[in-house]
Amino acid sequence: MPEKFNIPQTFQGSIVSNQELSSFTSFKIGGCTPLFIQPASINDLIAILNAFNDQKTDFFVLGGGSNLVIADEGIPVPVISTGSFDHISSFVRDDGAILLSCGSGLSVERIIQYCIDTELSGLENFAGLPGSVGGAVYMNARCYEKSVSDSVYAVRYVENDNGRYREYSYTYCAHDWDYKKSPFQHTKKIITGVDLIVTKGEKESITEKCRVCIDDRKDKGHFRYPSAGSVFKNNRDFGKPSGKIIDEAGLKGLRKGGTQIAPWHGNFIVNVDQGKASEVKELVTVVQNTVFEKFGFFLEPEIIFTQDLF
Ligand SMILES: Cc1cc2nc3c(=O)[nH]c(=O)nc-3n(C[C@H](O)[C@H](O)[C@H](O)COP(=O)(O)OP(=O)(O)OC[C@H]3O[C@@H](n4cnc5c(N)ncnc54)[C@H](O)[C@@H]3O)c2cc1C
Repeated sequence: MPEKFNIPQTFQGSIVSNQELSSFTSFKIGGCTPLFIQPASINDLIAILNAFNDQKTDFFVLGGGSNLVIADEGIPVPVISTGSFDHISSFVRDDGAILLSCGSGLSVERIIQYCIDTELSGLENFAGLPGSVGGAVYMNARCYEKSVSDSVYAVRYVENDNGRYREYSYTYCAHDWDYKKSPFQHTKKIITGVDLIVTKGEKESITEKCRVCIDDRKDKGHFRYPSAGSVFKNNRDFGKPSGKIIDEAGLKGLRKGGTQIAPWHGNFIVNVDQGKASEVKELVTVVQNTVFEKFGFFLEPEIIFTQDLF
């Protein structure tokens, strides 16, 4: 398949045919992609996107794979990994504000460690959040009452402009964002870098706040089995968290094949024994139908099923 595309000789990065994808996800579920590409730089990303564009080929962007249910049949289009976009630095602007500049593929875990090492505060709530910062911006991840959008200053992204891709810069604007909503969803924009607002802090206090968040996740069983985190978004109008509603519907522990609604957390589906995407989908449907019949609420999934995209 790589031969089909006019990939420039100068391209740097990796290109793998028929790559299995489950190991790139936190759920450990999913089939293969015909082409797995990890561009080494933004220019390499642009070169690949232009090559796909010339062949009218669609693609999928993979961050840390922690919010995904990849179809058992795989993803039928090339998958682009942001894994090499992993730079991080901080700088003080003329007005005194401190910005943390990160490549989109950088894991949140590494950002948190950088903040601890360099005594930068403001992102502690995100300690323990799996995945990349690009994915966290795309999803507008929310942890302990703080959304990523609360810390975003600017986002760099690559987009198609009249048939050719180029990099743009977006500056935060409040009305573009909402609970678990970002201006990058349902677009073909590829986030390449993010500037986050931080402040000067003290190592001990930053470390302690991060530890509290990570311990709380451990206590709640977040890392006991492979999963993609909370399955359904919360909805204030329902008066309680989705997990509590699922619990009250008597669905905790329900099993389909190798997947199960976590017996300890109604809003987690876990992969207990070589689970399949189709089984996750079945559980999601059972939850939606049961909750709707019992309480009249329609729970909206937060996890992304790639089978719904292609
Ligand atoms: C144990 C566990 C706990 C979790 N806890 C939380 C939580 O507390 N709060 C919360 O909000 N979420 C939580 N999640 C879900 C998940 O970690 C977040 O949604 C995370 O921010 C997704 O980032 P990612 O890099 O893994 O994205 P991926 O799963 O790789 O991708 C998610 C979506 O983002 C798109 N995307 C990824 N990177 C880019 C990019 N650079 N440019 C354009 N699009 C991109 C993908 O195409 C896909 O549509 C949890 C997940 C797990 C497994």
